[in-house]
Formats: sequence, C-alpha cells, structure tokens
Amino acid sequence: MYKIAIIGLGPRGISVFDRIIAYARNDASATPLELYLFDSKEFGPGCHTTDQADHLLVNTVACQMTQFSDDTVRGAGPLLYGPSFADWLISKNSALGKGTDAKIEIDRNGYYSRALFGDYLRWGFEYLKKMAPPHLTIYLHNYAGVDNLQWDKQRWQVAYDGCNFPADFVYLTTGHARKVLSNSEKKLTGQVDAARQRNPRLQLVLEPYPIRNATSSVMAGDTVAIEGMGLTSFDLIAQLTQGRGGKFESAGKLQPAGRLRYRPSGQEPRILLYSRSGLPLTARAVNQKGVFGQYKPKFLTFTKLEELRAQADGGQLDFEKQIIPLLWADMQFAYCFAWLHAKRDKIAALMFSNEFLAADSAHARQVLVDRHVDKREQLTWDKLVDPVPPLALKSRRQFDDWLRGHMWKDVEHALQGNLDSPLKSACDVLRDVRDVVRAAIDFGGLYEHSHRWVLSEFLPIMNRLAVGPPKERIAQLLALMDAGTVRADFGPGARCELDESGASFVVNGYWDGDSERANVLVRGRASLPGPMEDKSPLMRQLVEHGIVRPFMNGQFHPGGITVDRNMNVVAKDGTAQTTLWALGTLVEGCKFYTFVLPRPGANSTTMVDAGRAVGRMFDAIAERNMRLQMAQEELQGVHEDEPVETAVAPPSLSAVPTPAPMAAAPLGFEAAAPARVRRLETDPANCPAFSRS
Ligand SMILES: Cc1cc2nc3c(=O)[nH]c(=O)nc-3n(C[C@H](O)[C@H](O)[C@H](O)COP(=O)(O)OP(=O)(O)OC[C@H]3O[C@@H](n4cnc5c(N)ncnc54)[C@H](O)[C@@H]3O)c2cc1C
Repeated sequence: MYKIAIIGLGPRGISVFDRIIAYARNDASATPLELYLFDSKEFGPGCHTTDQADHLLVNTVACQMTQFSDDTVRGAGPLLYGPSFADWLISKNSALGKGTDAKIEIDRNGYYSRALFGDYLRWGFEYLKKMAPPHLTIYLHNYAGVDNLQWDKQRWQVAYDGCNFPADFVYLTTGHARKVLSNSEKKLTGQVDAARQRNPRLQLVLEPYPIRNATSSVMAGDTVAIEGMGLTSFDLIAQLTQGRGGKFESAGKLQPAGRLRYRPSGQEPRILLYSRSGLPLTARAVNQKGVFGQYKPKFLTFTKLEELRAQADGGQLDFEKQIIPLLWADMQFAYCFAWLHAKRDKIAALMFSNEFLAADSAHARQVLVDRHVDKREQLTWDKLVDPVPPLALKSRRQFDDWLRGHMWKDVEHALQGNLDSPLKSACDVLRDVRDVVRAAIDFGGLYEHSHRWVLSEFLPIMNRLAVGPPKERIAQLLALMDAGTVRADFGPGARCELDESGASFVVNGYWDGDSERANVLVRGRASLPGPMEDKSPLMRQLVEHGIVRPFMNGQFHPGGITVDRNMNVVAKDGTAQTTLWALGTLVEGCKFYTFVLPRPGANSTTMVDAGRAVGRMFDAIAERNMRLQMAQEELQGVHEDEPVETAVAPPSLSAVPTPAPMAAAPLGFEAAAPARVRRLETDPANCPAFSRS
C-alpha cells in the first residue's frame, strides 16, 4: 500500500489527480494506493471560485480550455478523455431540456463567466473520481489548509488541521498565493492609516482578489485610482461598473458595429486608470482557428532551439538576440500571409510563403516583404513595442484622441479575427508558439541578464499583444471613457503617490502639471509571490526547513521554487527529492508562464508536466514492487521447505536500498489487506491513517 498526497486541488492539482487515475487504471499489478486530497476550499475550481459574479469572465474562449488530455498529448501516460469547457457547456445545456429559462445559446468561441468555469472544474473533479479503479482509495480533506509538510526519515508527514498524515509521495499544487507586504508597502500602509484620520474615505487595496472584497467599501462619489491596465484591472472595472448596475448597450445604428454606450447606474465611482506603458492590453480577436488551428512555428522551432543551445557556451541563450529574431520571423510570416490573402488572394499568399520560407536571412525576408507589402502597412517590431507616435505625446488632449482611435482600431482588428486580421494573426503567434518560448526560458535556459530582460521588457509586451481581454472589454472601456466614468489618458510613465498633507492619492500623468486626486488606490495586479514573500504557513515552513529553495538564475531570483525537469522539488542542499513534486505557479521562475489552463489539441504543457511527474511515481512504485518481490523470493528461497504464509510480513526497510537522503521514501507497507480495498471519502476523524500530532 502506498500513500499519495496532493496538496491543492485547483486546475493543476486536478491534472495530477487525472494522471494518477489514468495510470492507476492501467496498472496491471493493481497495486493498492491511498490517495489523500487536501484543499481548504471545494475541489476543482481553485481560483475560479463558483460564487463570483457573472460579469467576471475567463479570458480564453470556451473551446480552447480543457481540464483533460487528448490525442495530441505526448509522454504524459495513458489517455483519459474528457470534455473541453465548450463540450461540457454544450452537453450541460442540452441536458437542461427545451423551454428551460436557464438554457442559453452556447458559442464555442464565447467567453463565459469564471464562476461557470469553476462549475466545470468542480464537475471535472467528480467525473475523474468516478473513474478511479477499485485499488485506489480516495480520502477527501477540504475544510482547512495544509500548514506543514515534513520528512520524518521514513515518509512525508502532511500537517492538516492538527493531524499528521503520512505519505510516500506528495504533490504540491497550491497555486495562487498571497504576498507578505514589502517594506515599502508596509510604510505606505502606515502612512495611509495615519492620513485616514483626516480623510476617512482614504483606502489602499494591495490585494485585488477576491474582487468583491477588494471593492466592497468603495462608494459612489469615490475616486478610485487603478494601477495597471491588465486583466485584473479589467475585472476591477467590470465590478465597479456592471457590478454596480451599470449597463452597456449598442451605441446605435449610426455607430460602427461593436461600438457601445454606457448607461451608468449612479452607484459607480470615478475611475483613474494608469500604467507604466499608458496602454491597455489589446483585445483578443474573434477566434477563427477553432480548437486545433494553432499556428505552427516555421522559424522558432524546437529543433532550432536545440541547435542554438548546442552551439551556446554553457547552453544558455540570449532571448533578445537569438529568440526574438526567430519569433519576429514567424510573426512577420503570419502577418504577410494574412495581408496578402486579404489584399490579393490565397495563391499570392501561398507563393509569398514559399519565397519567405526559402529566404536565407532576415535581410532577404525584409526585401521580399518590401516587394509584396505596401510600405505604409508593414508591421514592424518597434511599432508593436511602442505604438505611440511622438505627435500623440504633445499634449494630454492629443494623447487622449490618439488612444481612443488606437483602441477602436484594435476592436476593429479583433472583429476581423485572428486569421483575417494581419495584425491579430501576427500577435496570436505569440500565444501559439508559447511552448517553444517556454522551452527557451525554462530551467535557467537564458543568461541571467537575458532572463531579467524577458521579465521586465518582453513579458509586458507579450501580455499586451497576445494575452488581453475579450474584445468586448476594450469596447466597454471606450464607452466608459466616453461616459466620463473612466479616465485613462495619463500617458506613459504615470505614477501615483500619497499626498500626506492633502490626505489623498495623486496620479501624475506624463505631462507637467497633469494630475488628478483619488481617495482609493487599488493595485490592479494579482500577486505572484516568490517563496520568501509567500504568506502561506505551508510555504514558510517549507522554506524554513530547507525542503524548498528559491530558484536562482545566477544572482537573479525571478520567483518560485526550484524543481528539476521531472518537476521534483530541489531542497535547499541541492538534492532533488524524488518523492516530492511541485507544479504550477509555485515554480513560476524556474518555469515560464505556469498559470495558463490546458488548451485542447496543443500537447498542453500542464498535462505533460503532470504526466511526467505522475509517471515517475508509478515507475518508482513498480521498481519498489519489483525489489520487494525479489526480497520475498529470496526469503522464500532460504526457507524453501517452510510453508509460505499468506500475509507476508514486509521485509525490513534496510533490505531495500534507499537512494540519497530525502531522495526516496521507504516502502509504504500497511497491515491492511489489499484484497478488500474500498473507496472511501472521509473526513480525518474517520480516516484510518492519521495520527494526532
Ligand atoms: C482571477 C484570475 C483569472 C484567471 N483567468 C484565467 C483564464 O481566463 N485563462 C487562463 O488560462 N488562466 C487564467 N488564470 C490563471 C490561473 O492561474 C489558472 O487558470 C489556474 O487557476 C491555475 O491553477 P492552479 O491549480 O495552479 O492554482 P489555483 O487555481 O490557485 O488553485 C490552487 C488550489 O490550491 C489550494 N491551496 C492553496 N494552498 C493550500 C494549502 N496550504 N493547503 C491546501 N490547499 C491549498 C487553493 O485553495 C486552491 O484551490 C486566472 C487567474 C486568476 C487569479
């Protein structure tokens, strides 16, 4: 009998759960397993809680989200089919039957609420649970968080609600965490508290999630400064407008399709939106690729990456010099193909493609582009990175005009679609080739300076161009700007500071003298703390006991803990702990972009990582079983003439060679009779395998 624990059952933990069930179902030896699942909340949804408001949407179209593997997933173990979010919505919808009020039209390319997505994940958990084979016993523990995990020289001990649960194998999938305040945040909090004596409406919100809590004490008449123009800020804006009864409606027949008007409820505050770039994320285009139409890289390929790495001194790469040119070539290819397809025809686009692929240098490709694509309509990397023309920076008014035009053009491109719009087609490449980008960055694959550059320069650009909200959100923001509810024209480099004497926040725009006061400041960013700043008792213990170590690329700590390529957690002393794995945002830093959900038809990294981690565990179990069998045979051989007992006592642990310290848990023998394994779902009080600590 082996005991396995998963700590954290959000989407990542569910992927591990899925893989354990898939492997167990295919385990011919039917080795008895006990699986302990721990989460302080309901199993499945993770941060996509089911009680949030319907105006908070997922940022991915339904058909491109799944919790299950498919035929494209390689090296992740046995397949276990399940519905994508879109498939689930459709089947749930038809199950409602005709004439039911709740029945809605399902759009595979639509954006649905996060609460509904949470429902899907919750359902997914139940679906998987039903598929567990009889030799897998599942114990559910979900009314408290795990607050410690320790190694007692025999097994892991999972501390949960005052009990210690022993485990041979442990998966850490605790996802989004809260951050302890930095010194500057503590100082600001203290200053705000002091200034509140003079202005009782002064509020500082450093943790935007859950959105409802973050904004609950904001009142009509308040002015809220939101720092950041990313996805979290769009959530905050939706909560402060739609969430307060405001309505978006069509701007009328005389306006272009997609243009909206905002009808305020009178309950919303005034909102000041600012960021380092001064630009909101761009809209996600209408999905014309379906589920499987991902762009296949022609330049930034895995093979090319391997070649570059083989040539590199020490195997590290320079992202700006070596990866960006390849990425750009792919983006240029997608742009020109879509442009020629639209302006000429498909044959012209295909002929161009052949020439472009055959060109032997960036210069030769540019010559081709110059020959085929109108100069004024060509895409340049510089224009993508910094689209603000110098003229727009002359004054706030000019910037405001330019920004509104820029945002509306963005909506128009998005309406054309991610294949038909040359711009959106090029930007979508950034999403579609993300796995190759990951392979370049993961596990310290870049030079230290280059890793820093990626996080400070490339990541914000990639997010702005390719990881934006649905196009409706940009149209809504424009409508809110038109209605005067939101001001977003502070320009690049805007900052907010506390005016202690005036007991208010002040947002200072790009232009001298351009500032506006606010009484609430909200940080529009979900925190992604590294292990040293993680507020959770579990992570603090893991750090303190040296079970984890912060990931470092040279002197740079990009965040997260260190894992090896099998996702095994590396301890402070550098040992890879072969019975402990970590997946998801915990390892963001060592891995890149760990917080996206699996995409169907894309050999999703989430499934591959989970499959690899679980596969290693089943290998270890098989190996241990084999060693055990050999030990038993040896025992029987020595006492050949003696009768063989039906319940063979486990051999002494010393008979089984144990690798490096903390590298392998000893055999997990239990006195229980495997033949009568039942599937149990219990609370700890009924759990046979817990001890009060
Ligand atoms: C607001 C928001 C919106 C998002 N929208 C999208 C989107 O549209 N598309 C997309 O691809 N990605 C989105 N993401 C990214 C998100 O990271 C993934 O969707 C996914 O939820 C990550 O899954 P996870 O399991 O790693 O983490 P989580 O979803 O955070 O789940 C972690 C689970 O672990 C549990 N846990 C934590 N600590 C403990 C402990 N000590 N003991 C026991 N249990 C514990 C938590 O209760 C939770 O259930 C969004 C993220 C946020 C924050």
